[in-house]
Amino acid sequence: MIAKYIKKINILLYIVFLLFPVLLIGCSSESPRVETEFVFGTTCSITLYKGYSQVSFDMVFSRMREIEGKMSVTIPDSEVSEVNKKAGLEAVPVSEETFFLISKALGIARETGGALDISVGPLVSEWAIGSEDAHVPSERRIQELLRFVGYEGIILDSEKRTVFLEEEGMKIDLGAIAKGYAADEAVKLLKKEGFSKGIIDFGGNIVVFGSKKNKSPWRIGIQQPAGNRGTYFGIVQIETGAVVSSGTYERFFIQDGVKYHHILDPGTGYPSRNELDSVTIITDAAVDADGYSTAVFVLGLEEGYSFVESKNDIDAVFVTKDRDVYLTSGVTDRFIQSDADYPIVPIETGPRTE
Ligand code: AMP
Ligand code: MG
Repeated sequence: MIAKYIKKINILLYIVFLLFPVLLIGCSSESPRVETEFVFGTTCSITLYKGYSQVSFDMVFSRMREIEGKMSVTIPDSEVSEVNKKAGLEAVPVSEETFFLISKALGIARETGGALDISVGPLVSEWAIGSEDAHVPSERRIQELLRFVGYEGIILDSEKRTVFLEEEGMKIDLGAIAKGYAADEAVKLLKKEGFSKGIIDFGGNIVVFGSKKNKSPWRIGIQQPAGNRGTYFGIVQIETGAVVSSGTYERFFIQDGVKYHHILDPGTGYPSRNELDSVTIITDAAVDADGYSTAVFVLGLEEGYSFVESKNDIDAVFVTKDRDVYLTSGVTDRFIQSDADYPIVPIETGPRTE
């Protein structure tokens, strides 16, 4: 089934730049090769610079499919599907990596007061955003399903390495964090195979490693939430690490003039409604950037901004529906505005004078 969706494309780097929501700006003079496949319900691309062969790309994509096979809710015999089937009945043993990712998601859930909550599964299925069945559920249905949402009901046993969902009807969904994990794993594998430089782009989860020829930083364009795919409003410069965006533009439908997007507020059961159009997180590991980008989006501008500032190791670029851009303090000297319609709003950081 999955195979029919798999497209192999090997095209010039600049064409890929035009297609992807987060763009890498500026080609190197080395001759990179990009391979793109459809995994995790999105286009995943890998760029390598030298020493590659088809085997190198195939190896990474096959590892990506292995991860998808364990963690996807749309694959009926995945570990996550097994956990969901046994909700309220029994604890299910899972692989080390699935256990790691669920533990990681629960850690972020605790830190963000449940803004990231992988138990949103029943709501994700009902809304079905991004599929042909997408619809606005009745208020009653949402209230019914909200009873099954609550990450406290996900019980982990680290000794037995099992996951138990306390109540029948509960369902976990790792869609907010699995692509980031997979991107990190792709980098790990490529480094192990001796690659010293590359770019991973898994549906807007970007990780770069190794330095460019002239040692200049990587320049990563950030998608304009309201613009066409491939248009960016600014560039983040990083030496290495991950840049991950969550936004209202990724998957959505419009009904009666209202936009319903795929980032759900686990408190209300509806797509998170606040002033934001996108959040981009910059940090070392894509798994963190992915989890935090979804969580911080749900927290909204004010709370999300304070949360990111309270942590030393992550930074963020916020874009509001009014196209104002807010940068956390660690990113101000690494961000280059590239579209005058997206002005940077200065944040007062020093002691107040009034
Ligand atoms: P992302 O694109 O990384 O922000 O993740 C969005 C995806 O994560 C959605 O398509 C859902 O599968 C799932 N999801 C939506 N809202 C939440 C949430 N508040 N917490 C955890 N997962 C979510
Ligand atoms: Mg995410």
